[in-house]
Amino acid sequence: MTLSLSPPSSVPFLSPHKHPLPFRLKTHAVALQTSLDPPVSLTSSNSKKTGVIVIGAGLAGLAAAKRLHSENIPFLLLEASDDVGGRVRTDLVDGFLLDRGFQIFITAYPEAQRLLNYEALNLRKFYSGALVYFDGKFYTVADPIRHFSDSIKSLSNPIGSVLDKLLIGLTRIQVLGKSDEEILSGRESNEVPTLEFLKQSGFSDSIIDRFFRPFFGGIFFDKELQTTSKLFNFIFKCLALGDNTLPATGISAIPKQLADNLPSDSIFLNSKVVSINFNGLGSPEVFLENGDTVKSELGVILAVEQPEVRKILAGKVAVEPVEAKPARSTVCLYFSADPDKIPVKDPVLFLNGSGRGIVNNMFFATNVAETYGPPNKALASVSLIGLFEDVSDDDLTGRVVQELSGWFKESMVKSWKHLRTYRIRYAQPDQSPPTNLMKNPRLGPGLYMCGDHQTSATFDGALVSGRKAVEALLRDMALSKV
Ligand SMILES: Cc1cc2nc3c(=O)[nH]c(=O)nc-3n(C[C@H](O)[C@H](O)[C@H](O)COP(=O)(O)OP(=O)(O)OC[C@H]3O[C@@H](n4cnc5c(N)ncnc54)[C@H](O)[C@@H]3O)c2cc1C
Repeated sequence: MTLSLSPPSSVPFLSPHKHPLPFRLKTHAVALQTSLDPPVSLTSSNSKKTGVIVIGAGLAGLAAAKRLHSENIPFLLLEASDDVGGRVRTDLVDGFLLDRGFQIFITAYPEAQRLLNYEALNLRKFYSGALVYFDGKFYTVADPIRHFSDSIKSLSNPIGSVLDKLLIGLTRIQVLGKSDEEILSGRESNEVPTLEFLKQSGFSDSIIDRFFRPFFGGIFFDKELQTTSKLFNFIFKCLALGDNTLPATGISAIPKQLADNLPSDSIFLNSKVVSINFNGLGSPEVFLENGDTVKSELGVILAVEQPEVRKILAGKVAVEPVEAKPARSTVCLYFSADPDKIPVKDPVLFLNGSGRGIVNNMFFATNVAETYGPPNKALASVSLIGLFEDVSDDDLTGRVVQELSGWFKESMVKSWKHLRTYRIRYAQPDQSPPTNLMKNPRLGPGLYMCGDHQTSATFDGALVSGRKAVEALLRDMALSKV
């Protein structure tokens, strides 16, 4: 069976974030060029131009598609699920916006600055710092640049010594003095687990356990802080330069903005790819779960999660094996509350610095953006590190309520209503050393790979990887014309 795309006019086209319908590529022969005609404008001089197939509409696939579109290269974006965004999605539940796991958008992400319209995202800021729960009380850790007086007041609190707080300033100066490329490429001999880096930098066990472990452990879903120091330094730099924010309409506003700027008939939802046939000579064929086959004459960009890469390429494409380390997992529980039954009105992140319990961090999303809840309702978001597979949802909710009843007034927490629990097995790839955060996206002529496993496991890394995959494809195209 050969390529069988029906012309877009007859394809049940899926608007990415309206009403996704099942999509089926027709199996009778229709020329690829014809089928790809409308998604992008072809240059009139070469009517034989064919398209690129991008597999996966997470941030990486969307960034790749955006770059292809800017080059006027026709493409199709095939997404297995019912919407774009991949791991960056938001559900509307009883009037609440529930991001699929606790996610923060740091405005200083360099690639994001280039690709996204921040104003349209209507970003709402977190307090630059955190309230750390330790020894039965809350202590402030504040960014000295943005909240100077808070940081002065917190100098003598038990979340680290005065020296620790000065070292934070020094680390800030050090990372700001390096380019992103220097930080992320870093010679492997310089790369150590974050925990080791913090110890080498002179931080005390107190600040490591009470602040860095819950804060960066929550970002990397890695309480042991084994994630590479390259990633720590990159995030530390971005935090120093930008704000922690949430888009007013949920974290999914980020991928939706990217998708909105693509030709709407180029995105196909509910279109799961099962394998790729690649002979090393370009023009790979893509096989869909529904039995259809799609062919591209310019190339295929694989933009799926790391474990999916292996499944799609297994045995069919001679490529280097993808590194396999266990993934980082998280659980996020949401609760609704009456506004007078939450302890603060501030957009602040609470961290568990006590070394006990299962809660890592929590915050009240409606304090950051009131749009996260219906009128007169508050939304609490609680995050755990790991999957807690052996604990039922009910038991987990009970344990979280019990634990937070020790943090806040018991009568408050017990009045909250559980909304939903998200268990995210594959939250991020394991990025403990040795790492290569600048992997070559080219698997062969006509076959490229992107995704956060190619770069850094961040929104920014995913976006960068999508661009780089297209740049590799463009280089091959240019060479083939020589
Ligand atoms: C809970 C959570 C919190 C996070 N918090 C942050 C944060 O605060 N800041 C930050 O920078 N990063 C954060 N991250 C990491 C960030 O979300 C990811 O690094 C990034 O979104 C990965 O994008 P991606 O495009 O590489 O992969 P994905 O988003 O996983 O996209 C892959 C896409 O491929 C599709 N797909 C898979 N298989 C197939 C197939 N066979 N056929 C067709 N399509 C397929 C999937 O459905 C998916 O849409 C967080 C991640 C999680 C899960």
